[in-house]
Amino acid sequence: MHSVKKKGHLYRSLQAMSILPLLVLGFVITIFSYYTVKSAMHAQVQTELKNMTEYIMLTYDLLYPGDYHLEEESARFMKGGQVLTNDSSIIDRLKAETQIDITIFYQDTRMLTTILDADGNRITGTTANAGIVQDILFSGKPRFYTNTNINGQRYFAYYTPLHDSHGDIVGMVYTGKPSANVNATVTRAVLPIILIALIGMVVVSLISSSYTRRLLNALQKIRVFLSKVSTGNLWETLDADVLVRNDELSEMAHSALFMQRSLRNLVEQDTLTELNNRRFADKRLKQTQINANTFGNNFVIGIGDIDFFKSVNDTYGHECGDIVLKRIADILKNHMLEKGIVARWGGEEFLFLYDDTNLKTAYAETEILLDEIRSLSIEYEGQPIHVTMTFGLAEGGVNTNIHHLLQVADAKLYEGKSSGRNRIIA
Ligand code: GH3
Ligand code: MG
Ligand code: MG
Repeated sequence: MHSVKKKGHLYRSLQAMSILPLLVLGFVITIFSYYTVKSAMHAQVQTELKNMTEYIMLTYDLLYPGDYHLEEESARFMKGGQVLTNDSSIIDRLKAETQIDITIFYQDTRMLTTILDADGNRITGTTANAGIVQDILFSGKPRFYTNTNINGQRYFAYYTPLHDSHGDIVGMVYTGKPSANVNATVTRAVLPIILIALIGMVVVSLISSSYTRRLLNALQKIRVFLSKVSTGNLWETLDADVLVRNDELSEMAHSALFMQRSLRNLVEQDTLTELNNRRFADKRLKQTQINANTFGNNFVIGIGDIDFFKSVNDTYGHECGDIVLKRIADILKNHMLEKGIVARWGGEEFLFLYDDTNLKTAYAETEILLDEIRSLSIEYEGQPIHVTMTFGLAEGGVNTNIHHLLQVADAKLYEGKSSGRNRIIA
């Protein structure tokens, strides 16, 4: 298993590509929802305060018909014939119901109010700030403020002018809610949205990060594989998990494997018969000797040569000779399955390597093979062609000299040829 050791440039750019837009989107959603909720909440507070103000004015008008005025000598605040001074019972009850602060002004001075100072005393007698007085008393229109300072506290405030029966402005009604309360409500409403956006971002980032990592892992495996193949390792394997991916990377991995197989065939396979070539056989012989020295097992090598092959060429042509070679090669290959290997050693000469076998067993196996070849009839242009083969076998084991063993097998083959062919000498 080769893993991505260092998070490289590709990893970082893939991550950035997937996470950056998410971050921007998350940010936009948060800002947008904050402002949407905030403006909706402000509009709602404004409506609430406006309705409250109208309700107060109506209540006083119904209870005490007449104008608001200040009695000259006693300085009592009146509505019609009713003295209002110090009678906050109505606005106190309304505040208890609605949490909305209420003040009734005579001109710019608070006559009745629910607002208390730090010591718990009503702030009656104080005046509205100059800006508001200017706005309301002089313009004569109601106004909504989102950030008014009253007695050191911030309020959402709605001021409405009060008129007397002549239409003159005599004072104002204030209704308000502490800004902190409204802002807390906005935050409470936006928080779940921010949270959902955040969770979404984290989840998508994790998914994308894990996908990127797996992608780059697969890429890395293919890269390592290719670099090994390029330095001549034609038997390197590729992790199955790269091959079973259902994407372009697995296609790439399959191509890499295919390329390796083609290279291997070019280097280690005979093109005509598709048998292993001599180069491959040499390698396997060396490995077999090393294994025998390590594990103490015996093995048998054989050299087989087609008898009178020249006459096949001479009689039917070289092309026919090729066909015969291929048919024989197929039989040899099938025969050696799970027994060892067979290679094209020379023109019509083949090398056999029986792994983990003694001479007796190998002889019996070769007899079966020879029988199969004897009974083979190859059709060429309507004519049946029959061939036989001669084999020389030699057994090797611990510390055998392969070169010498090949000479022994070759000598046996020669012996077989000179003693009549179509036989096995062991
Ligand atoms: P012996 O029984 O003594 O082995 O006789 P032989 O005719 O088989 O032996 P010889 O060495 O005289 O001739 C081998 C022939 O095999 C000569 C050569 O043209 C032929 N041959 C070798 N390689 C190929 C090949 O790839 N294709 C074809 N068609 N013929 C080949
Ligand atoms: Mg021959
Ligand atoms: Mg020969």
